[in-house]
Amino acid sequence: MVLSFEEIAKSYKRIEDLSKRLEMTDELIDLFTGRSPAELEYIVRLTKGEVRPAFEGIELGVAEKLAVKALYQVTLISPDEIEEKRKTLGDIGSLAEEIMRRKMQMSLFSEELTVDRVFKSLEKISLVEGKASQDHKLKLIAELLHDATPLEARYITRIVCGKMRLGIADMTIVDALSYVMTPEFSDIIEKILSLRPGEPIEASVKAISTHKTAALNSLIDLISHPKKNGLDPDIIQKVHPLVDDLRSRIKNNRKIMVKAYNTHPDLGSIANKLMEFGIEGLKTIHVQPGVPLRAMLGERSSSIGSILERMGGETALEYKYDGLRVQAHIWNEEENRSIVLFSRQLEDLTDQFPDVVDYINDRFQGEDGIVEGECVPVEPNTGRLLPFQLISQRRGRKHSLQEKVKEIPVSLIVFDCLYSNGNDMTNEPYLVRREALKGLFKDLGENIEPEKGVSLSKMKIVKDPVIGETFFNMSLEDGCEGIMAKSISGSSVYQAGSRGWHWIKYKKDYRSELSDTLDLVVIGAFHGSGRRKGRYGALLMASYDPKEGIYRSVCKLGSGFNDQHLFEMVSIIDELSGPIEHVWKNVDSKMIPDICTTPDLVLEVLGAEITFSPNHTCSFGKIKDDAGLALRFPRFTGRYRSDKGPTDATTEEEIIGIFGSQNKIISDRSS
Ligand code: ATP
Repeated sequence: MVLSFEEIAKSYKRIEDLSKRLEMTDELIDLFTGRSPAELEYIVRLTKGEVRPAFEGIELGVAEKLAVKALYQVTLISPDEIEEKRKTLGDIGSLAEEIMRRKMQMSLFSEELTVDRVFKSLEKISLVEGKASQDHKLKLIAELLHDATPLEARYITRIVCGKMRLGIADMTIVDALSYVMTPEFSDIIEKILSLRPGEPIEASVKAISTHKTAALNSLIDLISHPKKNGLDPDIIQKVHPLVDDLRSRIKNNRKIMVKAYNTHPDLGSIANKLMEFGIEGLKTIHVQPGVPLRAMLGERSSSIGSILERMGGETALEYKYDGLRVQAHIWNEEENRSIVLFSRQLEDLTDQFPDVVDYINDRFQGEDGIVEGECVPVEPNTGRLLPFQLISQRRGRKHSLQEKVKEIPVSLIVFDCLYSNGNDMTNEPYLVRREALKGLFKDLGENIEPEKGVSLSKMKIVKDPVIGETFFNMSLEDGCEGIMAKSISGSSVYQAGSRGWHWIKYKKDYRSELSDTLDLVVIGAFHGSGRRKGRYGALLMASYDPKEGIYRSVCKLGSGFNDQHLFEMVSIIDELSGPIEHVWKNVDSKMIPDICTTPDLVLEVLGAEITFSPNHTCSFGKIKDDAGLALRFPRFTGRYRSDKGPTDATTEEEIIGIFGSQNKIISDRSS
């Protein structure tokens, strides 16, 4: 049976009206169930609003003006009238839906859109290049809109303009796929029902067919408290193992999926493989030069002593360089060497750093490899580290790139090896990876030599906290922001995509009492007055709760902005703003700013301390009834964390952790 695009558009509409992560997962499960491999791949890609994974650099991102032109061609409603409506509605999808509704009244003939046709047309749009590309794109969009219902037009225009923004995190898609790909699910449910377990359990089990993950959680909750829920212990004894079995199967499948996603972050192709070969098919996904891995991240600690305790008494310490994390992939294709650089957000940075590519090309002596390092600005004569802000001036630059390359020389300081000479190194312990890293480059030393362009991170293995503290101070003197402690145990593998205790960061900020930088997401803006008239006076900032996929407010940020920031902020906020019901689907805030924005932009913020506040929703009610946690005296450090997506922002849990350790410092001091 051919899958109509209308069916998935209806599902997107339902998702838009939901805000809870579990409910979204349930809707996705329905959307994903019973599809062919290609259909599931297309659906997953469309849900993410893309036709290819972001790391391939193929983007839709058509200008809204072009979509408006296509709407005019299809409906013949005057461009002025469409433009007027755009101003009131704000969002291109709602505009298309409304305009197309009028076209329906004109009842033109049209052919039903299938998912296959929509996807393939969008793919063509993304690939069109050259002189007449705008006309060609316009024609393709108009053809789709001609046959679209108003609801379909809502999502086609959003996807085409790169504004799908359903608020679904990749991990929610992974959760839904884990459920769909656990085929034993219905068998186990049948087995439970055949036990005739009695009313509350039967009702709960039956609810699973409609409320999926939410109902499974209630069932687990129900049988975990048999006494309180008045359940027969004999029945519970039989039901429990079946539910546990089900839960562990889903969990296990999820684990395999997450591993595959972390080494090959392309959910579309993962979905296709899953449908074709089942969960076992994912075990064939391996680290591969050209496909970026999701970065390993570290926890934080506030003393060398506690780091050593965590690491079992001995640890490697490396300088923590302040720049831009780069994952360099080097391989040969038909005798030619390919070098591709990826950012931490898995964007292709190769064109922005031609000098780094040249350095690697000169110095690399392996067959192939994937290495990670920090790209830092350096003083060309001495190799002295320069402030990280300079590197931002090299990012996203297309014009006068060559001038900037000369003006802001950089070096790559490599610190990890994930692939070497045909071998996946991610399962090897840290010290083995470091040896492999040394072997991949000619003459690789720990001193930065600007003309060589590639050096190795400075490292020392320590047991003694005093020696560790000296190394830390040396790192600050040399212009670093602190150190990274790295486990040297046999199990210190590279954990792609996760934040764990194999790496622990210890930064300068952590020692300055209650101040600590947080990476917070902008969720809205307040108009400025006085000197800031016509600009924004403050931004509403949020932390992230990955469990529920929700952004919760944590402070109103008004300090630390210079004139340049205030100027830039106007167009940035404009780009992210939209009707509250569209942009704030996964935002939880009591404060309503003048402008609401899609959670997307991450800023580095310094604060005095974390305090209770009845006005902010971060961890509301978790530590104290009727109060959340807020950052006091927040100040923008001037650093746009464009290397971080919103889901990489500081989490609610981290803020609770900082609040706890801050109070510990206070009580230690007063005792
Ligand atoms: P921060 O906000 O402190 O920059 P983060 O949240 O970006 O950190 P973390 O895992 O907390 O990420 O810190 C690791 C980051 O530190 C890496 O992403 C990398 O860019 C940088 N870094 C600098 N030097 C090193 C090093 N020697 N080893 C690992 N990472 C390093």
